[in-house]
Amino acid sequence: MDRPLHIAVIGRQGSGKGTQAELLAERLGLSHLSTGDLLRDEAAASGPTAEVVRGYLEAGALVPDALVDALVARAIRAARTGTVLDGYPRTAAQVSMLDRLVDLDLVVELDLPPSEAMRRLLARGRHDDDPVTARRRLDAYEHATAPLLRSYRERGLLATVDGTGSVEEVHLAILRAVIDARRHERARGRAIA
Ligand code: AMP
Repeated sequence: MDRPLHIAVIGRQGSGKGTQAELLAERLGLSHLSTGDLLRDEAAASGPTAEVVRGYLEAGALVPDALVDALVARAIRAARTGTVLDGYPRTAAQVSMLDRLVDLDLVVELDLPPSEAMRRLLARGRHDDDPVTARRRLDAYEHATAPLLRSYRERGLLATVDGTGSVEEVHLAILRAVIDARRHERARGRAIA
C-alpha cells in the first residue's frame, strides 16, 4: 500500500495558507493540521499552559518549540491519514522535529510580498491584527521561517506558488505542484499515495 502523503504549507500571515491548506486537505482526503488552530484551542482552555499560550498569541510571538512540537506530534499520531500541515514548521528546531515525525513529501511556499501581506492582515480588522502585532507576526516570519525555505529547496522538496491570485487560481497552482512532486517521486522510485 502507498504510504500517506504529508505536505507542509508555509507562507506569510495573510497569504491565505489556512484557506489553501484546508482546500488541499479536502481535495486529497488528508487531515488539515493547523498549529494556529491547535494553539488557539489551547489558549481557550483553562490552566497555566493556556495562559502562557495566550500571552504569545496576543503578542504576535512564536510559541516555544517544545509546546508546539508536543501538540503536533499528538495530532499527527491521532490522524488516520496523511496531513496538510498549516503553519508548521516555523523554526529550524521544528524542521528537525517534523523530520523525526513524518517523511515529508512536499513543502508549498505561498509567495506574497510583505506589503500585500500587511495590507491583507490589516483589512481583516481583528484585534490581534493591529499594526504593531501584525508587524511582529510578519517579522517572526522573516527571521525564523523564511530562512527554512532554502534548506527545503536544497532538499528538492520546495514548490513556490504565487499567492496573489484568486483562491481558485492558487488552489489549482498548488494541485499542479503536488502532481509534479508525485511525478518526481515516482521517477525516483518512491511511490506515494
Ligand atoms: P497562524 O494562524 O498560523 O498565523 O498562527 C497564529 C499564531 O500562532 C502565530 O502568530 C504564532 O503566535 C502561533 N503559532 C502558530 N504556529 C506556530 C508554530 N509552528 N510555532 C510557533 N508559534 C506558532
